[in-house]
Amino acid sequence: MSDSPPSIDKRIARLHANGVVDLHFDLLMDLYNKRDRTDVLATDFLPEFRAGDIGVLAAAIYIEDQYLPDSALAVGLDQIARLYLERERSDHFAICKSHSEIKRAREQGKIALLIAMEGVEPLGADLNLLRVFYEVGVRVIGLTHARSNAAGSGGVFAATGSSLQGLTAFGRDLVRECERLGIIVDLAHINAAGFDDILKTITMPPIVSHTNARKYYDIERNIGDEQIKKIGARGGVIGVNSVLVSPRKEESTLDHYVDHFEHIIDLIGIDGVGIGFDFFEFIYRQWSEAERATFHQKFPRVHVIADLANHAHARNFTRKLIERGFNDEQIEKILFRNWMRIFEQSL
Ligand SMILES: [Zn+2]
Repeated sequence: MSDSPPSIDKRIARLHANGVVDLHFDLLMDLYNKRDRTDVLATDFLPEFRAGDIGVLAAAIYIEDQYLPDSALAVGLDQIARLYLERERSDHFAICKSHSEIKRAREQGKIALLIAMEGVEPLGADLNLLRVFYEVGVRVIGLTHARSNAAGSGGVFAATGSSLQGLTAFGRDLVRECERLGIIVDLAHINAAGFDDILKTITMPPIVSHTNARKYYDIERNIGDEQIKKIGARGGVIGVNSVLVSPRKEESTLDHYVDHFEHIIDLIGIDGVGIGFDFFEFIYRQWSEAERATFHQKFPRVHVIADLANHAHARNFTRKLIERGFNDEQIEKILFRNWMRIFEQSL
């Protein structure tokens, strides 16, 4: 991968000059799990972010099963607290709450962090708490992970079997309140009925921060062609996930990752795709054998792409887009322009 001609490397550097935008990274859970250390952001993450020219990152709150339900609120707030503390200790980052703050951070050469929430378990069923999370900076909310909660149900990691119920009354109120406050509602993970309920409720361009095409990986956690078209018809953007590219390990390759982009582009055009890498190898690496076994039992066919396993590999992705014949304008839209347009419209 490092033996590409200098002209290609120059082209990649030029394409990355504005910074790559990734709409899903499980950073906050990791900062929380490493709360007995400081400078985690600077030592564990900054080198990879810099190597991949990462410019904007949505850092997600996620509550692990062992904290449910009673500690979800405290752990969610603690995750945000760790981010603020870590940011204080590194001038390379800015926590951003608006499009103009993201732009300013980028002009200063900082990595813009957007706080996201993956599953609203920290809120319980209390709409007032949404306001609190908004005030401390949450700007992207996905209602569920694979679990069900007070707002709705997630799509299962199988071709059938998700709940047929849409959002609960609380879930619908929550979506309306997100729109009123200026929080982007993320359709990643939600089941099909919830997906349609959200689209009925929101007016902003819809986003799916990290998902894959069911054409290549047919599970209800991913999205089908009709769903992709609904996002496209409303001017939305779909972030393509790197860990659910294929149920088969041997097909979990950079080329097949690009196939997902091409499929979505075929259906809704180049303005409808972005990156939602969902890198996860850094968490997996830290687990014990027992934790890995539990994970494989729950999510048996999640595969990391060897040369797209972390943010330092972002240039491999851009090199692959060039190899596959994408032009500079198309690549810029995928790497950052489409997501930046969403931020401009919604934040
Ligand atoms: Zn996820």
